Amino acid sequence: MSQTMEFKTEVSKLLDIVIHSLYSNKDIFLRELISNASDAVDKIRYEGLLDQSKYENDTDWKIKLTPNKSAGTLTVSDNGIGMNYDEVINTLGTIANSGTKEFMKMLEEKNAKDAVELIGQFGVGFYSAFMVADKVTVITRKAGQEKGVKWESQAAGTFEIGEAVRANRGTDIILHLKEDDKKYLDEWTLRDLVSKYSDYIEHPVVMDIERPKKDEEGKPSEEKEIKEEVLNSRKAIWLRNKSEITEEEYNDFYKHITHDYSDPLKTIHFKVEGTHEFAGLLYIPKMKPFDIIYKEYKSGPTLYVKRVQIMEHCEELFPPYLRFVKGVVESNDLPLNISREILQNNKLIEVMRKNITKRVLDALSDMKNKKYDLYVSFYKEFGRILKEGLHFEYDKKENIADLVLAESTATEDGKYTTFAEYISRMKEGQNDIYYILSASRAEAMASPYMEGLTNKGYEVLILTDDIDDIVISALNEYKGKQFKSVVKGDMNLTDEEKAAKEKKTEELSSILGFIKEQLKDKVADVRLSSRLTDSPVCLVRGETDFDPHIEQIMKAMGQSYMAAKRTMEINAEHPLFIKLNEVFNADKENPVLKEYVDLLYDEALILEGAKPVDAGLFAKRVASLMIKGLE
Ligand code: ADP
Ligand code: MG
Repeated sequence: MSQTMEFKTEVSKLLDIVIHSLYSNKDIFLRELISNASDAVDKIRYEGLLDQSKYENDTDWKIKLTPNKSAGTLTVSDNGIGMNYDEVINTLGTIANSGTKEFMKMLEEKNAKDAVELIGQFGVGFYSAFMVADKVTVITRKAGQEKGVKWESQAAGTFEIGEAVRANRGTDIILHLKEDDKKYLDEWTLRDLVSKYSDYIEHPVVMDIERPKKDEEGKPSEEKEIKEEVLNSRKAIWLRNKSEITEEEYNDFYKHITHDYSDPLKTIHFKVEGTHEFAGLLYIPKMKPFDIIYKEYKSGPTLYVKRVQIMEHCEELFPPYLRFVKGVVESNDLPLNISREILQNNKLIEVMRKNITKRVLDALSDMKNKKYDLYVSFYKEFGRILKEGLHFEYDKKENIADLVLAESTATEDGKYTTFAEYISRMKEGQNDIYYILSASRAEAMASPYMEGLTNKGYEVLILTDDIDDIVISALNEYKGKQFKSVVKGDMNLTDEEKAAKEKKTEELSSILGFIKEQLKDKVADVRLSSRLTDSPVCLVRGETDFDPHIEQIMKAMGQSYMAAKRTMEINAEHPLFIKLNEVFNADKENPVLKEYVDLLYDEALILEGAKPVDAGLFAKRVASLMIKGLE
């Protein structure tokens, strides 16, 4: 009894593309199927550690290739965990995971020729079988179940599913090869592909090989014999000595575990000896994995204990801000049947996590010092994620801060400085590290808040990442220098400057009082500015208030918050203010005063990127001023 079912629309579309558009590197289908078989073996091996009966007395783990020339089929079999009826329906047809869409999106954006390599990264590797087969049959039986399942499809929108008999636990994927793809029945082609793409698979990939039987003298005879041969070398590269491993081997292994097409940016291989022994082979990719922005993204290396793969992503071994790192970690001191709960409170895991964190940060620091351009390319991809560590990992704040890059008023467009370099350029009398949060460099450069500082020759960091506000507040200081937002608080002045400012404030106290009274519902205070040179006014926040850039983001996200009242700063040297003061001194009741004060406030709002209180009224007032100017 079998039943015809329809593929989920996205899956159908994906299959259509796989069949009709991806020709460039069909070879990878074998890697994908072997990788799935190996995953299935890992799963049953792990489950059996917890419940021996699941092994059903079959622990001779293997993945077998069976080319059948007369039938034109290639079968990939495993004695892994198998799938039950529902799992087959869901995973092979009716559920489209996030990778399905993402993979198709990438095919549209990138050159499909390069892209086909990446199919495994998107969790849709199984479907690559249809690059070489016009029909695929799956016969599988799940561990512990009596009945097997048969799934069959020629793509074209539907698949058949029904019961099947399979003597042993495991899965056969039978590819009915297309006429043009019969080369995949050839022994040497298969040998080549396995050693190229699946050499590091831990389980033996085997094939029955027919050879002339050798006689007593070792010479080939007329008689033939069939022997099962292992095609892959199965070496655990991370356990070997560094000196014996070539860069190519490192890179191949990286591609093998990540399904990435490019070489890694950085390889970190280490063995820790002593009380706790463990080894790791970690990689920093060149580019962000597509799914790193998703909640479901799984971070952490593959964890092995005594050569047994315990879990694919041991997230307890990496802090979240290093979630872009990939690789393998092996320990001989952990129990084989370690559970998630144990992992979370395990002292040894904690020791390993610290050790790994330090190694990765050291490697980044080394790259920054010795291969700066390479580091910049890393930072462009992952700097935003790395910076999260400033907020979350108190212990490592200093080390991470050393790794932060930012643009500044002293760098060229698109070039970076470190905090240390900034400090080395600080002017005499400058105590703080100034920064501005902004959507872009251009916006920051045009900001009136920068005027006073730029005039003094002070450098200002331009921070454009959405999390910069949070991480800078968490960091608070670097090498004893405080971070100071150019839009918050008062500027630091020399004693001389302070005295001059106090004198001026005294002189102008009358008009300042008038403005304060007029704007008392809107601003917390009105004072003379030390930061303005060209603009007449600006609004300034308290040290602990939100940054205006962040306020805009919160508004855009529809979040409610209590906007704190700002302080209005006035540029006493600006001709507009000088004139206004004259009018004020001549006639304190002149109605133009009130109107202009409101206009100044609106202008200050616009300068910080906000809108005037009443845009209509503002426009009317500006229009009437323009008419006066024209008369
Ligand atoms: P991924 O391997 O990234 O999950 P695939 O498209 O390669 O994506 O495989 C989809 C799913 O089908 C697997 O996650 C697994 O649940 C199931 N599957 C595929 N091949 C096998 C197999 N040989 N044995 C058991 N399950 C398999
Ligand atoms: Mg797969």
